[in-house]
Parts: sequence; structure tokens; C-alpha cells
Amino acid sequence: SREIQLVARPQGAPKDSDFALVERELAAPGAGQVLVRNLFLTVDPYMRGRMNDVKSYTPPFALGETMTGGALGEVLASGVDALKPGDLVQHDLGWRTHALLDERQARRVEPLPGVSPSAYLGVLGMPGLTAYAGLLDVAAFKEGDAVFVSGAAGAVGSAVGQIARLKGASRVVGSAGSDEKVAWLTGELGFDTAFNYKGGPVAPKLRSAAPDGIDVYFDNVGGEHLEAAIGAMKPFGRAALCGAISVYNATEVPTGPRNLGLAIGRQLTLRGFIVGSYTRHYPDFVREVGGWIASGELKYEETVVDGIEQAPQAFMGLLEGRNTGKMIVRL
Ligand code: NDP
Repeated sequence: SREIQLVARPQGAPKDSDFALVERELAAPGAGQVLVRNLFLTVDPYMRGRMNDVKSYTPPFALGETMTGGALGEVLASGVDALKPGDLVQHDLGWRTHALLDERQARRVEPLPGVSPSAYLGVLGMPGLTAYAGLLDVAAFKEGDAVFVSGAAGAVGSAVGQIARLKGASRVVGSAGSDEKVAWLTGELGFDTAFNYKGGPVAPKLRSAAPDGIDVYFDNVGGEHLEAAIGAMKPFGRAALCGAISVYNATEVPTGPRNLGLAIGRQLTLRGFIVGSYTRHYPDFVREVGGWIASGELKYEETVVDGIEQAPQAFMGLLEGRNTGKMIVRL
């Protein structure tokens, strides 16, 4: 197996020398094990937090060990009755070409008609569920709400905006980091309006995009975006605090929104969440989002990078916005 290990804890933005490619011989699978050839793996923003040696909701990655994370592969050899060569399995062993898995580490998944199995790592997987549960449960979205989502051209954000539209939002506004992404949001995904947050303060851009204010803010970005969104929220507005990618590489403690006091008078709800606590929505999510994908009402995009040796670059590119939709590594 060819594998990527974390060999240094990034200071600020991660760089090539924080990672190393290693090769390992894997044993043949014993009873209760499967050998899997990975087809796709996912790089996700939360991995940046796990590269720091700090206590969080997931423990830090260990230095000198292979990076873990979501992956999807096909069974090559099996010592498990329920799995046979050619079966597709999803697992969490991450950045490696091959994985020797215990039965409990491998979840068999069905091939999707007309859809790449990589969708299990994106729109039909963890990021999709994050969008669905974050919008509908955490932010308590209801029909007629005006919704603003930051990081709107990413895996989570692109699903949030479309789910809001399909569930009857009065207005869907997104922000993203390039004019091409903005054009994609309004042209392809049906956002009512979108803006490029780069080159100038966010608050006035949001004000012109949503002059009547917003009921729901889905926060993927934190920092200045969160402050601008609080400023634009209507009474009883609700924010789902999903991520704060604008500060993931910060080397100093970032400042909080200076206008948090508005939350009192406007009676706002700002609610953080971790998708792992919302898996009860999984069946509804698969039914609804799976249905919208099949009918073409919900579109998704993947930015695919080829080769295990490119996984660090894919990860760094994700933090720099080189992806539209889900960033995927194909092996
Ligand atoms: P994305 O596909 O959205 O990729 C990350 C995007 O972040 C980039 O494409 C880039 O787009 C944007 N970005 C990078 N730096 C900045 C910045 N300084 N300001 C604004 N945008 C920036 O990733 P995901 O969809 O996987 O994740 C989106 C967010 O959701 C992340 O914050 C992540 O941590 C969070 N998350 C939280 C979960 C939870 O359980 N709470 C679960 C899954 C994800 P651009 O070109 O627009 O800058």
C-alpha cells in the first residue's frame, strides 16, 4: 500500500513537507478481515483541526502515522462471509491505496445507478447529511425563510442552498471566493443571488444581496462572515454554526463577532453542531436528497484530483478554495 503520513504539525497553512509518502506491505486478509483497494478518498476541512495537537471533539492525528479519513474501495480478497471480491465498501482508514480492514471497520455500500460511488463521500455522505441536518434541524429552517449560506460553492454549502430552495425558502443567498463560483451558484444551482466575498468587506455585500435581512444563516466560514450575518439577521433569526474555515489556519486566537450583543434584542439563536450527533436524520436525508439527485432537482459537483501522492495537495487546495463542490482524491 502507498500511504500518506502526517510527519509535522502545520504552522499556519499546511505545506508539502508536513506530509510523507510511505510504502507498506499488507498481509493477506485473515478470518474476519478484508483487503480493499481504495478507489476514492475524501479530504475535509475538519482534518486541519486534527493536525493540531489540541483536545477537540476528535483526537489529533498522530505524527508518523497514516492519515485516516473517509474512503471508498473495492474488496480484493475477503475472509468475511458477507463480503466478496468486487463489493464496494466504505471505511475510515483514509489516505492509502489499500487497506486491510476488520469486518467492523468496513461498511458495504450499493453501487448507485448513474452516480459515481464517490457521492458517498460527498453529497450522499457526511457533507450532505451535515447540510440537511444543519439546515432543517439545527437552524430550524421553515418554508418562507430567507437563507444565507457562506462557503456556498463547497460540498456542504452547495447542498444547503439547494435544499433551502427545494424546501421553499423565500430567498437563497450564497457567498464564495471567485466570480466563477458565484456564476455557478446562480446559474446552475438556483441561488437567488450570490456574491464574491473577496476584495472588500462582507457586510455591505450581504446587505445588497439580502436587503430585507435573513432568517437563517448557515455558517461554514466564521470570522467576518459570521459578524456580517449577525448584522443582517431578522428578529428570531437562527444560525447553524457548522464551521469556521476562515480561521482554521490561524496561529493566534481569533476575535469573536463584535456585534454579538445584537443577539439579545433580536432574540437570535446561534447553535453549533457536529454532524455525528444528527445521524438520526440519515434515513430522511437519503430519501429526500437521493430523490432530488435522481430527479435532477439537486445538482452536485466534484473536483477530482488523481493519485495518492496528490492527497496533500488536494487537502491544501481545499483550504485555498481550489474546489467547486466536493474535493475528492481518485486512486
Ligand atoms: P468545502 O467544500 O466548502 O471546501 C472548503 C471551502 O472553504 C473552499 O472551497 C473555500 O471556498 C472556502 N474557504 C477557504 N478559506 C476561506 C476563507 N478564509 N473564507 C471563506 N471561505 C473560505 O468544505 P466542506 O463543505 O467539506 O466544509 C464546509 C464547512 O463545513 C467547513 O467549515 C467544515 O469544517 C464544516 N463542516 C462541519 C461539519 C460539522 O459536523 N459541524 C461537518 C462537515 C463540514 P472559497 O473559494 O469560497 O473561498
